[in-house]
Amino acid sequence: MSERRLQFDVVVVGGGTAGVAAAIGAATVGMRTLLIEKNPYFGGAVTHSSVLTFCGFFAQQEPIEQVVGGVGQQLLDNLGKLGIYAGPYRSPRTGNVIVLLDAEATKYALDKTVQDSDVTPRLHCQVIGASVAQNGIREIECYDHNGRFRVEAKAFVDASGEADLSALAGAEVRFGDDEGRVQAGTLVMRIGGVAADADLNRNLFTKAVLEAKRDGEPYLTKQKGMVLRLPGSNDVLAMFADEAVDGLDSASLTEAEMSARRQSWAYLNLFRRVIPGFEHAFLSQTGPSIGIRETRHVLGEYTLRGEDALSGAKQEDGVARGGWPVEIHKPGVPAEYQHIRDKSFYDIPLRALKVRGLDNLWCAGRIISCDPIAFASARVMGTAFATGHAAGVAAAHYAAMKRVDVTSVRAELVRQGAFV
Ligand SMILES: Cc1cc2nc3c(=O)[nH]c(=O)nc-3n(C[C@H](O)[C@H](O)[C@H](O)COP(=O)(O)OP(=O)(O)OC[C@H]3O[C@@H](n4cnc5c(N)ncnc54)[C@H](O)[C@@H]3O)c2cc1C
Repeated sequence: MSERRLQFDVVVVGGGTAGVAAAIGAATVGMRTLLIEKNPYFGGAVTHSSVLTFCGFFAQQEPIEQVVGGVGQQLLDNLGKLGIYAGPYRSPRTGNVIVLLDAEATKYALDKTVQDSDVTPRLHCQVIGASVAQNGIREIECYDHNGRFRVEAKAFVDASGEADLSALAGAEVRFGDDEGRVQAGTLVMRIGGVAADADLNRNLFTKAVLEAKRDGEPYLTKQKGMVLRLPGSNDVLAMFADEAVDGLDSASLTEAEMSARRQSWAYLNLFRRVIPGFEHAFLSQTGPSIGIRETRHVLGEYTLRGEDALSGAKQEDGVARGGWPVEIHKPGVPAEYQHIRDKSFYDIPLRALKVRGLDNLWCAGRIISCDPIAFASARVMGTAFATGHAAGVAAAHYAAMKRVDVTSVRAELVRQGAFV
């Protein structure tokens, strides 16, 4: 077969929430944009790990304030047309404001949102290499079942969740926190056959798990997990099966997937035995993949700090808003929360999305340049839409003009419906 070679203005690597927003943002500027995703659908964690709640679209204060619009809003509108989204949901237990989702509707709404734009999508395609010259990425190497092929572009966005493109291009990256520790991975369980009137009070589950652990049940980790009823069905989503996992390493991932599945069956059997309404419950799905919260972080021209996030700091070059509390997950223990001042929001500056040392590379989503505390807030999917959108517009401006001016990026984001 003759060598396959493609040419675009902007290439976005990773079609999770950040990557979809980046690609649509760049294409809306008028740049020929390619979006590359290794899975058979877009969404990243939302579709591939059943993380079926968008956090970060809204700040937590009362009255509720929306802090992310733009491409994220386009997706919410498409979810609305499918009857899934009719507005935010404030949890009566935690007070947090979220968007409840359905996996298949989200896959389809993401397809629709991408197809409504001028983005060229490539699913089932993995980026495996990058060629760098004169402080910029010149082309990347991709793989599908026909073999390797190359894509040239003027600007790139790394929205791979694991900073694959940045690492392949030799940019400086950090694994986890300063000591290489990462947040826990979790295999999400979808449980069917639950009675419609079953009480999902978390304390019931916590008590059941604690007692089972005390009785010597070996395969349970977390006792305080999220349990929620999915919209449009009686199915229940449960997040308990935590693993300390290196999401970059296939050996570690293999061990974690198998161990987390064993945990899931142990949780299911326990719930069947002791939680009223779960007598006929069954596992309708795990994953598909274990959810990886954290691996590599890019080093940007600015590193967003925990103080910036917690104090609700506003920045002159703010291009995205973070409205979710700091939420830290350590393997097997309950999540720790810290609220943003006044339950409001903070700004994420464009400098935190600009990869240091490579003129034509921006990053978005959970890999943006931030310390462990800021990461614990900015990683959520609503915020990933916002950082993705901004990174895409910045990359498009670079592709068009070879320079990026933050005032123009902010103006374009506003024109595209984003909140800055
Ligand atoms: C268990 C768990 C629970 C969570 N709970 C919530 C929650 O309730 N609400 C919330 O908003 N957030 C939650 N989060 C956080 C959130 O899901 C992630 O931080 C968010 O998905 C980050 O978005 P992203 O687009 O940066 O990355 P991802 O969603 O990870 O997407 C990255 C995409 O890039 C693709 N990719 C990677 N490498 C390559 C490559 N080399 N070539 C091609 N494609 C590639 C991947 O296949 C993937 O689709 C949770 C995370 C986990 C793991």
